Amino acid sequence: MFSKMYRCPVCEQTSHKDLYKLDNGKLITCKNCQLAFYVPRPTSEELADFYDQQSYREDYTQSIMSSQDFTKNRYQELKRIIAKYHPDLLKQNSKSFLDIGCGLGNLLQFAIADGWQITGTELSPIAADQADKKIRNHILVGDISALDLPENSFDLITIYHVIEHLIDPILTLEKLQKLLKPDGILFIETPNLNSLGARFRGKNWSNIIPPEHINYFNSKSLGNSLEIAGFDEFIIVTNAPYKIEVISTWNKLLQIVVSSIYKLTPLLGLGAALQAVAFSSLKSK
Ligand SMILES: [Zn+2]
Repeated sequence: MFSKMYRCPVCEQTSHKDLYKLDNGKLITCKNCQLAFYVPRPTSEELADFYDQQSYREDYTQSIMSSQDFTKNRYQELKRIIAKYHPDLLKQNSKSFLDIGCGLGNLLQFAIADGWQITGTELSPIAADQADKKIRNHILVGDISALDLPENSFDLITIYHVIEHLIDPILTLEKLQKLLKPDGILFIETPNLNSLGARFRGKNWSNIIPPEHINYFNSKSLGNSLEIAGFDEFIIVTNAPYKIEVISTWNKLLQIVVSSIYKLTPLLGLGAALQAVAFSSLKSK
């Protein structure tokens, strides 16, 4: 049977194989860069309509990622990463931080209290409005690839759980590369398609939620994306930063066993989250 050829949103090749058949489409894997992606690709208008739905907005504000404890842990982890890869930055008096997809602005609140000059961008006007109530005049509404920000101006850029949503992830990564200062660092977090959970649950993995998530990365395809976007130096690891909600009703012993395995998964590259630290240090060459 004739099988439609789709162009990979990362490497633009058209050689792919089926991964999972889903209700209204399927996930396919690019044979060239290993990105798994959802087809048919939604249009930007369809995505805008989807994110404007009331149910999506309610899910968003109630999600675990909106909690203060969760954000505090995330900020502390971010500081450990900076201390490891760019220790001088923490000592700088003036340091600039851009958070892409800043949501309700919780991470930026921790950063501003810690002396960072902050900027956040957010697609959802509702979330941006709530963020702006906490941090006045530092939140921009819109798609980062269309926003007008000065090049070479940020020491740190973070993009948590955004690239899996984007129709054109490379366009965004290229933009971030330009916005970073020559010695700045970019931190990316996205669900790990090679995680234990993803392998175990197959097409029922909780992150397979098109049209929200339309790109599914493993460390290989994330690295390929960074290279294509012009980053020539980066480190990719996996992490297990969340509680596993599904086991909360299981018996205690089983919970202990499963959460212990979960905590060990990063050692094997099987952690739930894929994290990349990318450097633009060669930009000045
Ligand atoms: Zn590809």
